[in-house]
Amino acid sequence: MSGMGRRRWLESMGMSFFAGRLPIRSSPVAPEGAGKPLQLADFQPRSMLHVPETKVLRSRHPVIDIHTHLSFTAKSANGVGLGEAMEYPAPVEELLPLMDRKNIRVMVNLTGGVGKGLEQTIRKFQQPYPERFVTFTEPWWERSNQLGYSKFQADEIVRAQQAGARGLKILKTLGLYLREEISKGPLVRIDDPRFDAMWETCGSLGMPVAIHVSDPEAFFLPIDRFNERFEELNKHPDWSFHGGDFPSNAELLEARNRVLARHPKTQFIVLHVGNDAENLPYVGECLDRFPNMHVELGARIGELGRQPRMAKKLFEKYQDRILFGTDAVPHGSDTPQQICNDELYEIYYRFLETEDEYFDYAPAPVPPQGRWRIYGLGLPDGILKKVYFENAARLLRFKT
Ligand SMILES: [Zn+2]
Repeated sequence: MSGMGRRRWLESMGMSFFAGRLPIRSSPVAPEGAGKPLQLADFQPRSMLHVPETKVLRSRHPVIDIHTHLSFTAKSANGVGLGEAMEYPAPVEELLPLMDRKNIRVMVNLTGGVGKGLEQTIRKFQQPYPERFVTFTEPWWERSNQLGYSKFQADEIVRAQQAGARGLKILKTLGLYLREEISKGPLVRIDDPRFDAMWETCGSLGMPVAIHVSDPEAFFLPIDRFNERFEELNKHPDWSFHGGDFPSNAELLEARNRVLARHPKTQFIVLHVGNDAENLPYVGECLDRFPNMHVELGARIGELGRQPRMAKKLFEKYQDRILFGTDAVPHGSDTPQQICNDELYEIYYRFLETEDEYFDYAPAPVPPQGRWRIYGLGLPDGILKKVYFENAARLLRFKT
């Protein structure tokens, strides 16, 4: 607007250009809040992108969720389960409607427990609903420093299968928590020969091993301003494995690889995208080296979805060895957490099925793992069917 034009416009608004009452500023007005410090936790920017938002209420094909936790050992010391007493966060009557709503044919409960605890878990879920629930057993960690453990553990795997267990779950206890004495002594190595009989027995009985070793790469670095998972670690400093006598992430993964190499007849479902979702070239290398290795997605769509082109290539190349899983821990409506997994499943389906862009990978208001958003893969039907169902059905030996 020219000087004269501006004057006319002001006058038409009832203001005199020369009245001298207008504030004269040498710089634009600072918006409210500018220049003030803002707590990182309070920073919740809303995306201004105008992009499609697809609500995927049900998966396009039936699902086996290979990674859920419907039971836990009641007591645990540093992640080392003690005894056979179990806890069940959600009743089966509340799980079944969730599964029907979300097109989940089967939930695989990995932390089924041991001994009498395992039997109880099987009685609760798998026995009344054998088409809907599968149960895995776990090692008797607290006995692992006792004489004769190797044979005892192998025998327990046989007994667990007779009781109805369909696989074995290894928590990151092995490699990061389990020590020669409870909470003392050196850490027990992942490839320690005392577990060889256990791995072999699983192989000979056709029980897949769902194994979680190590953790995100950022958990092995200092909790500082350079750490991409700073907020998460700052909130849970005990999740950090930086310093102390912890092995590095690479050492843990290599020890796991030695187990895979030593037991080629045992099928391993390496959870959380092979426990290195940040490094998909390495995951691909491991899949190439070990034909008995399979991977699962649980709690890692945040990683996959921020590198959608690399992730899609992984799905294309290894479409017969990737399994759908969420790491869901459904809670009953009588617990403070309540059962709230609908949204969780919708996000996984949206990630796999649509080409939506830049959306949240978790329901919480703050991204729990890091401040980034994800992009959908838009996988074709053939790959979706395998990942959602067929790959897991084959490993679990479902009759078709
Ligand atoms: Zn888990």
